[in-house]
Amino acid sequence: MVKLIDVHCHLTGEEYLSVGGIEEVLSRAKGAGVERMICSGFDLASSRIAMELSDRFEEVYFCAGFHPSELGKYQEGDLDEIAKLCAHEKCVAVGEIGLDYHFDDNPEREVQRELFIRQLELANQLGLPVVLHSRDAAQETLELLKAHKHLLANGGLMHCYSYSAEMMQEFISLGLHFSFGGPSTFKNARKVQECVERIPAHLLLSETDCPYLTPVPYRGVFPNEPKNVKYVVENMARLRVEEEEALAKRIFENAKTLFFKLK
Ligand SMILES: [Zn+2]
Repeated sequence: MVKLIDVHCHLTGEEYLSVGGIEEVLSRAKGAGVERMICSGFDLASSRIAMELSDRFEEVYFCAGFHPSELGKYQEGDLDEIAKLCAHEKCVAVGEIGLDYHFDDNPEREVQRELFIRQLELANQLGLPVVLHSRDAAQETLELLKAHKHLLANGGLMHCYSYSAEMMQEFISLGLHFSFGGPSTFKNARKVQECVERIPAHLLLSETDCPYLTPVPYRGVFPNEPKNVKYVVENMARLRVEEEEALAKRIFENAKTLFFKLK
C-alpha cells in the first residue's frame, strides 16, 4: 500500500464524535495507508489536546500555536505555555500562525501582525519550523516574512497554499515548503492546480486540513478525515504526471526533512 502523510489536520474538535470518535477516524486513516498525521493547534486549548492525542497515538504528531483568527482569546503568558508544549518530543513546529484578512470581524491587523512576529521569534528561539496560515493577505504575508527572513532559519510550511504560481516563487525564495489539500481536487481550482504542477518536487507536501475542505470525490461531506489525503495525493500525481507511489514516498521524505522531529 502507498504510504501517506497528512501534514495538516485538526483532530481536536467534537465533530468526530458523530462518526465513531477519534479511534475510528485513525483506524480508517490507517486502512487508507496514512502512517503519520500532524494535528495542528490553533489556540492554547487545541494545542494541548493535540499534544494529548500525540501521547495516545503513535501516528499522531502535532504543532502548537495561535491561529490569527483565534487571537481574541489570547492572553499574556499564553506564548510561554505554547513554548512548553513545543518542548514535547512530538511537537514538530510552531503553528498554525499567520495572517487572515478574510472576515471583517477577524482580530485587528496590527494585533495579527504582532502575534505573528512573536511566534516567528519563538520558533526561531526553539529551533523549530513554522506552519503558516495566510488568507486574503498574500502581499502582507510576503512582506512581513521578507522583513523577518532571519526568523525562518528552520524552514516553514505554507499550508493549504492558495495564492498564485508567481507568488509561490516569492515564497520559495524564502525557503518555504508548500502543502495542498482538498481544494486542489476541485474542478474550478485551476490556479491551485497550476501550483501543484509547477512546484519543485522536494517542496511538495500533502494535507487535508480536516474537518473542512473534503476532497473530490467526497467534496461537501462533513467532517473531512485524514484518510482522504489519498485522494489529494492521487490527484497531485495525475496533475504532475508522476507515478503515485513514488510521489507519496517523496512527500514523506519532504515531511521528514522539514519536520525533523518526525519519526
Ligand atoms: Zn488548519
